[in-house]
Amino acid sequence: MTVRTRADLADLPNYVPGRSVPGAVKLASNEVPGGPLPSVIEAIASASTQVNRYPDSGASLLVDTLSRHLDVEADHLAIGCGSVSLCQQLVQATCQDGDEVVFPWRSFEAYPIIVQVVGARQVRVPLTESHRLNLAALAQAITPATRLVFLCNPNNPTGTPLGREEIEDFLDRVPEHVLVVLDEAYREFVTDPGIPDGIEVARRRFEAGRDNVAVLRTFSKAYGLAGLRVGYCYATPSVAQALRKVYLPFSVNAVAQAAAVASLEARDELLVRCAEISRERERVRDGLLDLGYEIPPSQANFVWLPLGEDTAAFTEHCLDHKIIVRGFPGEGVRVTIGDREENDLFLVAATSYLEH
Ligand SMILES: *Cc1c(COP(=O)(O)O)cnc(C)c1O
Repeated sequence: MTVRTRADLADLPNYVPGRSVPGAVKLASNEVPGGPLPSVIEAIASASTQVNRYPDSGASLLVDTLSRHLDVEADHLAIGCGSVSLCQQLVQATCQDGDEVVFPWRSFEAYPIIVQVVGARQVRVPLTESHRLNLAALAQAITPATRLVFLCNPNNPTGTPLGREEIEDFLDRVPEHVLVVLDEAYREFVTDPGIPDGIEVARRRFEAGRDNVAVLRTFSKAYGLAGLRVGYCYATPSVAQALRKVYLPFSVNAVAQAAAVASLEARDELLVRCAEISRERERVRDGLLDLGYEIPPSQANFVWLPLGEDTAAFTEHCLDHKIIVRGFPGEGVRVTIGDREENDLFLVAATSYLEH
């Protein structure tokens, strides 16, 4: 007898551990270079003494702290074990067999996997020639079976952002029963004032009686807590409640909750670091443009090199220089912005790549 696992799981990629090269600079996963602040380490240490107890499954202290910092009502918030978990909860909360989820492609790698695991159908909409989300095509891809649309702003892995007007226009075109999820994992690195804060966009729509927007944020990127797994969603109370119903109980652990609260209290200090990374992003992009690379404008903590067939060669060349970047074979390379020294090492590698 053989255990019958789902046949469709064969279509899913197996987990491939990230390459680790001793002494290498890791610019592959959009992490921030700085470790947790002393106040955050202290909160983690203090919470660790209580781990014989279950965490607060409602994360009430974190939710209240978020509510204060974002100036939103607590019943509009749901937390998750990383915003990747909230992506899954959103699909679980809206879709049953055969319902459709529309998303841009290439975009966040978790979208297709989550949609398939939940048992919904993926509708991938190619990016434009300039590596941007194609909102007209995304709107056209919506059918009576569509329940949810992911918009990643700025987009991972291309870094390209969506502006206020195009988002508002898109939201106006989407049927009211289709939930539009603004995935803002990189919001804190945005410097262009034309890129709206999704929470503001959503708040205004809620006030106008429209409820089909949700915004995802994470503590993994700007707040530097990727290893602890905590994110949140801002949505209407009924969507937030649905997310809590499909929440895997206790999945945001007590240490993560304490670290997230402490990071919010240290927000200003962390945002100074983000501003530095955004400045470095522009310096790295300018350096690459000077070298003749095509680099779409990025508003995230990474840049995209659409190298097509040269992707594998470039990735290997970086590895030879002890720099780990993220290659998407046949498409391009995503390079996370590190600290100044790391970025300089990368620019040296990008320069020597052109010389051989
Ligand atoms: C990194 C990332 C996330 C999720 O990160 P978590 O660590 O699960 O919070 C979500 N969306 C996008 C687009 C990302 O790049």
